[in-house]
Amino acid sequence: MGSNPTISTKEGRKQGMEVLCLRPFPCCGKRQKNGGVYEQAGKKEKQQRGKDKADAAAAEGIGEKTGGKGKEMRGNGTDEDAMSERRTRELYYEDGYQTQFSAQVLSCKEERDRDFSVILDQTAFFPEQGGQGADRGVLGGRSVLDVQVQDGVITHHLDGALPVGATVAGTVDWERRYDFMQQHTGEHIVSGLVHHHFGYDNVGFHLSEEETRLDFSGPIGEQDLLRVEEEANRAVWSNLPVLVSCPEPAQLSTLSYRSKLELKKNVRIVEIPGVDRCACCAPHVRSTAEVGIIKLTGVMNYKGGVRLTMVCGLRALKDYRNKQSCGEQISRLLSVRQGEITEGVRALQERLQAAESENQRLSEMLLERQAASVPGPECRRHALLFVESAPQGAMRRLVNTWAGQYRGLAAIFSGNDAEGYRFILGSRTVDCTALAEVLRAQGFRCGGGKGYLQGSAPGSEAKIRAILQEQ
Ligand SMILES: [Zn+2]
Repeated sequence: MGSNPTISTKEGRKQGMEVLCLRPFPCCGKRQKNGGVYEQAGKKEKQQRGKDKADAAAAEGIGEKTGGKGKEMRGNGTDEDAMSERRTRELYYEDGYQTQFSAQVLSCKEERDRDFSVILDQTAFFPEQGGQGADRGVLGGRSVLDVQVQDGVITHHLDGALPVGATVAGTVDWERRYDFMQQHTGEHIVSGLVHHHFGYDNVGFHLSEEETRLDFSGPIGEQDLLRVEEEANRAVWSNLPVLVSCPEPAQLSTLSYRSKLELKKNVRIVEIPGVDRCACCAPHVRSTAEVGIIKLTGVMNYKGGVRLTMVCGLRALKDYRNKQSCGEQISRLLSVRQGEITEGVRALQERLQAAESENQRLSEMLLERQAASVPGPECRRHALLFVESAPQGAMRRLVNTWAGQYRGLAAIFSGNDAEGYRFILGSRTVDCTALAEVLRAQGFRCGGGKGYLQGSAPGSEAKIRAILQEQ
């Protein structure tokens, strides 16, 4: 990649330029050129609010205020309406590491119990957009439950009201913010390398506390993914700068970058020299070294391409700890060395299958012994057998045999008087469809056909025998 003469966001502001980075465009290619939409982070919260944010990131400028029929807190008419129309300064674009700030409350609306929507004159809280979940933290002593942006209006959802016009202090949850920064920069590295080696686009992105998920537009084999993973980590070790800029339109038109849109200005470019250049709206770490480590954790075929999951930074360390703990526990349970737990589990499976086969064989033998106690067809019309338990297949085979020998019913009941029985019943002479109606009237639950029934029966063996002897 060649040199990239651009003006940074911060520098632009210093020079008095209006640097409106990013609102109109999507991050990381999440928005497809054919008009596809972002994947939403925090879907539950989204559904709860009943808002359709799919087009939020594509909206330009500061349009209408956020919806909702809540009442204005301390609202007094025109002055406040004018205040709330002012543009919110997005501090997170100027410095992703800023966690403390003060701001003036432009409006506060009660949306529902314990949920108040607040608009500020400036904010360091990154709203949900581009597939990345919103920041959390504290604002004016209230918890920030969510932050949304729609039509350019950034709305903070709090668990309590704030006085309109007051200056309040805000603190961004740094642990969460930095974790997201590490994951997001790691994602750019991987997406940049995939794009470079295979030409695929990143067509889906989801970043939440639980998962980082990215979709690519073509298939990638296992060995190729290992190579991408290693190369991505080499980019981390190289401690490359992560450069953010808003190129002027003339420069932008000649620039090659991922997630290129039709927009000609106000595009925020995040570049990792030699690795990736992409239009993106999110805070990033200053250098690739801060990503710590990049580990791909899962891959599946998805819509003609692949869906990857990955972890970076502290999240990767925690993932390693968890897997190490699992390995140690399995090792102890199997009494094998950690490096041999796969063979240990395989041997355990084989022993289990052998034990199940032996159990089946013994159960069938037992059923045969118990069947020998049933009086023969020369002296009984029905063959009825009650056992504690028996394999379903063996029960069915024996009932079929008996149905051809006895003039009446052949049935085996498995269970006990206290808990009831499950049963299989057959007959060559009795209409089982009609019998089913009789049995259901007695509390049986059963289904089947003309010569066959199965289901469950309540009550005692004596009562069931009495019902069937009448048939
Ligand atoms: Zn991005």
